[in-house]
Amino acid sequence: MENCIFCKIAKGEIPSYPIYEDKFIKAFLDINPNSNGHTLVIPKKHIENILDTDEETITHIFKIIKNNLYKLLKEKLNCNGITIIQNNEYGQDVKHFHIHLIPKYKDKTDKITPEEIYQKIK
Ligand code: 5GP
Ligand code: ZN
Repeated sequence: MENCIFCKIAKGEIPSYPIYEDKFIKAFLDINPNSNGHTLVIPKKHIENILDTDEETITHIFKIIKNNLYKLLKEKLNCNGITIIQNNEYGQDVKHFHIHLIPKYKDKTDKITPEEIYQKIK
């Protein structure tokens, strides 16, 4: 889809800090994080929101979150939990389906840049 920022990130046409990638999906650090390690997971094909998703994509995304990304963020960032949210239509700024993984920390943590987080994770 032309002019979709996440399609461009999926194709590597605009830079991001990718922490996981396969044929179907990509996970990269949010540019304006709610917490250290805030990650977005997207399908590479353009899907606008939950209403347009197919079962295979949803299943694959959650498999990778459960088996791979959750552990990666916990181990590398020492977070105490991860909140998973997903916005649709009203309240969704970027109209390319994405899931937010927001690490939560028991203790107060100083915010560090996505660049510094990337160095810890990669
Ligand atoms: P939404 O409100 O659509 O669920 O969230 C969109 C998210 O995308 C926001 O958290 C925002 O910071 C993030 N975002 C918007 N543009 C970019 C970008 O160009 N690169 C990255 N890495 N994140 C972006
Ligand atoms: Zn798109």
